[in-house]
Amino acid sequence: MSFTVAIIGRPNVGKSTLFNRLVGRRLAIVHDMPGVTRDRKAHKAVLAGMEFTVIDTAGLEDTLDDSLEGRMRQQTEAALDEADVTLFLIDARAGVTPLDAHFADVLRRHPTPTILCANKCEGKAGAPGLFESYGLGLGEPVPISAEHGEGMMDLFQALLPFARAAGVEEEPQEKPEFEPYPDDEEDAPVGASVVRETGDGADDDRPVPQAGSDEDDDDDWEGPGEDEEDDEEFPPYEEPGRPERPLQLAIVGRPNTGKSTLINRLLGEDRLLTGPEAGITRDSIEVDWEWRGRRIRLVDTAGLRRRARIEDSLEKMMVSETLNSIRMAEVVVLMLDANMVMEKQDLTIARMVIDEGRALVIAVNKWDAVENRNESLQRLNDRLQTSLPQVRGIPTVTISGLKGHGLDRLLENTFAIHRIWNTRVGTSKLNRWLNEMTERHPTPLSKLGRRIRLRYMTQVKTRPPTFAIFASKPDELPDSYMRYLVNGLRDTFGMDGVPIRIYIRKPK
Ligand code: GDP
Ligand code: GDP
Repeated sequence: MSFTVAIIGRPNVGKSTLFNRLVGRRLAIVHDMPGVTRDRKAHKAVLAGMEFTVIDTAGLEDTLDDSLEGRMRQQTEAALDEADVTLFLIDARAGVTPLDAHFADVLRRHPTPTILCANKCEGKAGAPGLFESYGLGLGEPVPISAEHGEGMMDLFQALLPFARAAGVEEEPQEKPEFEPYPDDEEDAPVGASVVRETGDGADDDRPVPQAGSDEDDDDDWEGPGEDEEDDEEFPPYEEPGRPERPLQLAIVGRPNTGKSTLINRLLGEDRLLTGPEAGITRDSIEVDWEWRGRRIRLVDTAGLRRRARIEDSLEKMMVSETLNSIRMAEVVVLMLDANMVMEKQDLTIARMVIDEGRALVIAVNKWDAVENRNESLQRLNDRLQTSLPQVRGIPTVTISGLKGHGLDRLLENTFAIHRIWNTRVGTSKLNRWLNEMTERHPTPLSKLGRRIRLRYMTQVKTRPPTFAIFASKPDELPDSYMRYLVNGLRDTFGMDGVPIRIYIRKPK
């Protein structure tokens, strides 16, 4: 089940910009470029984890019948035929124009419901147009900024009834809310980019309902090519908090490290039934419970199934099952046996967690049975530092699943790292920080003897924190400088313990 949304409005109100944002191909379509092909087809869109189909009507402007009415008729006809709901866009900066009013007239009389969206509402310049648009008789306008991504949670709320009517789950999907840099490079502006990542390699990110964590000060930095006025006075739109979702937790580790014992302990009942029979917990893929009033969902406990130990395939099996669990989780607890910590397999799993961009917590289990605790911890920390230097400060908790020791600390750390994983840093703050960093420690010279310039930085995503830096010679910035930046981010914004990704690109 899915529902279909059509974006309509007169030319230039920002339909394509919104479309790109919803479809997640922001860089793929460059509005100012002549001859850009706009896809008229339906596309899969995701907004805060909600999936729907969106029809781009922007292309319908280039119709044979060149009159405004002609365009409008074609656009609305195509849209209204197919859509469950239309997003009617106006440009709040331009105010309500006669053509807008004309559109509104048609829409008001049509059975397909309409959500009125006042676009370009970032900053104060949109305020008059926003209020004016109440007069269109289409209900309360949703103020958004398609270009800056503001008001997206309001839009989400407005679309929610239609999602519910269509029976669409609001569960997060496999794609991030916005994918500012398409995976397939053919979508990127030609010759424009070098994408580099630090910390990990994968791009399979979980989607992101973001709990109103946007910084207020995003607007006071003027990006390249923007001609905004000062935006401070108009208050930022409140993003209503989403209802709390359970934290998605996976517990992984080598066999016999004590995963089942821990889970039974956490759940307070023998739900997983440790036992010799294979497949005993086959049906138990997710378990929900609460800890101190916070909801937790234990995902994919199938990985905990007992099975006959066939030694030669064990590693392979472990890897594929563990990867499944990791992909379903937000936070992953890696169980170690305190008596044999950080063996090769443990490191393999830890790397998988980081590569998948998940938040990692290490639980050193069977602590009750450890003779020399200091030595054990020392050894563990050494291994962590040498083997996973890219993620500093991974929380490490000693526990005893059997005795029930350390479980509160384990869950405290789980929620704490989850919060860090969701960190969002405002653009102006980031750019001030970037300036300080480059002043304190200038970038090296490029091959041509000019200093590599880091011009602008923005956070493109959370979960894990993901940044883009626009630089003059992205491919020449050495890894050591990248590490300097990553560690600086950790220090300044308290982002220890989670993978951090940085894309370095050349501005177009
Ligand atoms: P469409 O042809 O009606 O779909 O409009 P476009 O998406 O091509 O946008 C028209 C112009 O408005 C472009 O220059 C966009 O950069 C600009 N624009 C789109 N959304 C916003 C916004 O939220 N704020 C501002 N200030 N400009 C926007
Ligand atoms: P799994 O294969 O990771 O699910 O491990 P189990 O939970 O089945 O535990 C493997 C063995 O380790 C069992 O014999 C448990 O009793 C034992 N064990 C689990 N947790 C602890 C602990 O905290 N302390 C001690 N001493 N033994 C434990």
